[in-house]
Amino acid sequence: MTDRYASFVQSASGRALVKRLGLPDPPRLRRHRPGDALLPAPALLGAATGGRLAEPVARILTAAGVELADPAATASTDTPQRYGALLFDATGITDSTDLRQLYDFFHPQARAVLPSGRVVVLGSPPQECPTPREATAQRALEGLVRSIGKEFGRGVTAQLVYVTRDGSTATAAPDEQAGPDHSASTLTSLESTLRFLLSGRSAYVSGQVIRVGTGDASAPADWDRPLDGQVVLVTGAARGIGAALARVLARDGARVVALDVPAAGDALAAVANDIGGTAVQLDLTAPDAPTRLADHLASRHGRVDVVVHNAGITRDKTLGRMDADRWDQVIDVNLSSQERINDVLLERKLIPAGGRIVSVSSIAGIAGNRGQTNYATSKAGVIGLVDSLAPALRDRGVSVNAVAPGFIETRLTARIPLVVREAGRRMNSLAQGGLPVDVAETIGWLAWPASGAVSGNVVRVCGQSLLGA
Ligand code: NAD
Repeated sequence: MTDRYASFVQSASGRALVKRLGLPDPPRLRRHRPGDALLPAPALLGAATGGRLAEPVARILTAAGVELADPAATASTDTPQRYGALLFDATGITDSTDLRQLYDFFHPQARAVLPSGRVVVLGSPPQECPTPREATAQRALEGLVRSIGKEFGRGVTAQLVYVTRDGSTATAAPDEQAGPDHSASTLTSLESTLRFLLSGRSAYVSGQVIRVGTGDASAPADWDRPLDGQVVLVTGAARGIGAALARVLARDGARVVALDVPAAGDALAAVANDIGGTAVQLDLTAPDAPTRLADHLASRHGRVDVVVHNAGITRDKTLGRMDADRWDQVIDVNLSSQERINDVLLERKLIPAGGRIVSVSSIAGIAGNRGQTNYATSKAGVIGLVDSLAPALRDRGVSVNAVAPGFIETRLTARIPLVVREAGRRMNSLAQGGLPVDVAETIGWLAWPASGAVSGNVVRVCGQSLLGA
């Protein structure tokens, strides 16, 4: 599905018309290509007094090849400096009066971020703060970040990353590299998160709050192949988001097991052949589907490191007109089958320590949607699954997260009537729909071995949609 309006806007005549009439102006987003630098220009890193993250973040960025700008040197020249990203360590903010430090950092730089640039604020999880005043000030960061996401335009995205302070308590022998405040795993997942957020992989993710906590995380030998050797199951892989997922995960080094219904066998085989993966034809709602799938994974691979529950259906009708079949089918495919498969794979210990479960929810599960009581119930249930399983599986070293896509250009959204479709496309900070690859890249990051300390998160891939915000 192509967005003809967005293509028109990129042309000379389109640009003139958009300016004159004040029409939505969807920017061309920077998307990841293998071998790309994380940022096309230097980053500016600032910190509130007493912050605990500026130093490890500077180390992470430098090791990742990001050039850190020296604001003192650029202030003395006449040419204004342009940045690929602005990062601010706000962990030193312990009282609302300290919030002024955010203004002091961001105000002079509001026009200095390049198109498709990045803004990342780092904070402490409010529920872990020692005083109500600190918790209040840390919670306030959300308002700043979400507003910057709406204000800066030109494809610039803004996120808040809450990072736990787990060093001295969580590790018996504090890691020398990690220092006294953070365990090595937490810093590895902070690195994976920053690598995702700064790169073109996060093109359609904005206005999100991401929590980096504790968990099993290991850095890859090569950050260009962050899934090297991992066995990954993708359900619903024959087309749309699932096919993009299979391709992205294989590109990143995974051995992909692609699953879809027998009726989609040809398309599924084409995807699997294309990426050197294997195809499994299976209807997830069949009573024996979990055991057949578990048998296949056990005999072929002996394990499955990453399970991506992507298969999903819609059967829209307003509640009063909905027959029971429509309700049952949607709940079964989108939610109950995920539970049954998790249960069997976990029971048979096929998901090892360091394993990952990523489920696909939807912003309909957050905001609700007319005509989609069944779908929204199933997708809100997926969020419940993440909330309940993540703490339960922490001790086994398995992370559980969800992504909630907004308007993504697929066959599913191509079927929406034109006017509603146009509204869905434009009602977000990036004024356009996302692409299947945007959802795939986000799931990829959550699946990386390096992201184990990111668990229990629901990350929206919606260009900061107004729905449910
Ligand atoms: P799609 O219809 O293009 O693909 C879904 C795939 O799942 C299909 O290949 C289908 O055959 C497979 N599938 C359905 N039932 C199955 C079953 N019983 N067993 C095995 N496979 C089955 O949809 P998509 O747009 O790529 O969506 C993928 C996921 O993203 C879904 O969970 C959907 O709800 C979610 N999502 C999509 C959007 C969007 O804008 N496209 C927005 C929010 C959420």
